[in-house]
Amino acid sequence: MKIGLFGGSFDPIHRGHIEPVRAVRAELGLDKVIYLPTARPPHKPGRSLAPALARYVMTELALLDEEGLEASPHELTLDRPAYTIETLEHFRRAMPEAELYLLIGGDSFADLHHWVRFREIPEAARLVVLARPGWDFETAPLHPEIAALAGAGRALLLRQPPVDVSSTHLRELLAAGLPLPPGAVPELVVRYLHKYDLYR
Ligand code: ATP
Repeated sequence: MKIGLFGGSFDPIHRGHIEPVRAVRAELGLDKVIYLPTARPPHKPGRSLAPALARYVMTELALLDEEGLEASPHELTLDRPAYTIETLEHFRRAMPEAELYLLIGGDSFADLHHWVRFREIPEAARLVVLARPGWDFETAPLHPEIAALAGAGRALLLRQPPVDVSSTHLRELLAAGLPLPPGAVPELVVRYLHKYDLYR
């Protein structure tokens, strides 16, 4: 079994969180990819987020009809920041037979050396880096240890078509009462976030 894990704040989840993952699943033949909305992202201290349960619900709604893409509330069950290495250890224990793949956007990859126990992450799972607009594998400045991972083939850099959507931009539009770009956010998610005025 090949299992992909994809963590994030998903505040809100959008097309850029889904299309590249679909492409990765097909390309690597992953049985499923598990999305892990994080309760309190350790990398974004101080930023206020929509409630964790609302971000989890939006993730479920977005993935309802997506074959092989699922959400897990695992990180919401912890009452402290969830560190990726601990999440990987959890899934290793829960699925000892599985080959684990950790999916991360290029910008997160470039930041990996700030993550807790980051040297253990590529030992615990194969790293799969998703192309993201504004982030270029060739020119992005990388910490030498992160560049070495890529150079040694320990991180797979995928060049799937980048999707130019970001949660930050969507939150700005919603806060200003402006319409979202068509198709940027799955329709059920749009209805849910408007129903509860999540970003106004
Ligand atoms: P924010 O704008 O709120 O900081 P974000 O999308 O950068 O949002 P997360 O929701 O935590 O942050 O992202 C989850 C993962 O998805 C991260 O690894 C991020 O790099 C990746 N990601 C986000 N948007 C895209 C995109 N358009 N294309 C590829 N990867 C993306």
